[in-house]
Amino acid sequence: MRPPSDARTALVATLVLLATSVSAACSSEPRAPTSSVGAPKGVATAPPSRSAAPDLATSAPSTPSAPSATAPPEPDEAAPAAAAAAEAVPPKPAFTATVSAIGTDLAARMTPTSWREGCPVPLSDLRYLTLSHRTFEGGVATGELVVHADVADEVVKVFRTLFDAGYPIRSMRLVDDFGGDDDASMAADNTSAFNCRPVAGTDRWSEHSSGRAIDVNPVENPWVRGTAVAPPAGAGFVAREPAPGVILPDDVVVRAFAAAGWSWGGAWESPVDYQHFSTTGR
Ligand SMILES: [Zn+2]
Repeated sequence: MRPPSDARTALVATLVLLATSVSAACSSEPRAPTSSVGAPKGVATAPPSRSAAPDLATSAPSTPSAPSATAPPEPDEAAPAAAAAAEAVPPKPAFTATVSAIGTDLAARMTPTSWREGCPVPLSDLRYLTLSHRTFEGGVATGELVVHADVADEVVKVFRTLFDAGYPIRSMRLVDDFGGDDDASMAADNTSAFNCRPVAGTDRWSEHSSGRAIDVNPVENPWVRGTAVAPPAGAGFVAREPAPGVILPDDVVVRAFAAAGWSWGGAWESPVDYQHFSTTGR
């Protein structure tokens, strides 16, 4: 209501300038040390800090806009509030994802390990996804999956939900890194999707062959039939006691996939496939 005096206006301008320059410094700061970190130590913690930096940088610009809008009426409170807000907001890691077609290099990487002539779907029907995920160590990493083009966007949504819920994933690499060998991928506790292969012990194509099935943390969520357990390291998780990575009925993982229309192999009678989600329920 009260018109600000010239001195007040000058003060406001100074504070706004100060706040802006402080914020600008904050937003550019994380990039400098990150890019200059060339030391080989701390390899495990480097990816989380790298992915945290862009988020801090992108969220920072919203901070100066608030004080500059509110500064004129209440300059004495706005500036300290801006400083406090900048200090109070922790660098929250952001979920990021990409969806792309199977390019020439990737096609070469996938052939003939996970894909070959005669598979139910052509490479042009598949998509390559990169997805942020939480690690068991409390960090953030980027994984990769190949899925059917029809489900690519909903799979991104599922993994965004898992990320936001803090659900950890051990490893998320293409099965081609394991020679297309599902047993080797499972033994490495690797989360994966597309793999053109028959259902074990049958001549029927697995749902993984169309990129419409995903196996999540296979060690914590093994395949079980009678006394048979795959991978063998999953034997310690057959009892289904709550633990990091263990998927339980109606938990955040099951609900995230269900929201996309996917069903869980953990609900099967025999075999029970706790790691397996698919669009068809097979
Ligand atoms: Zn599966």
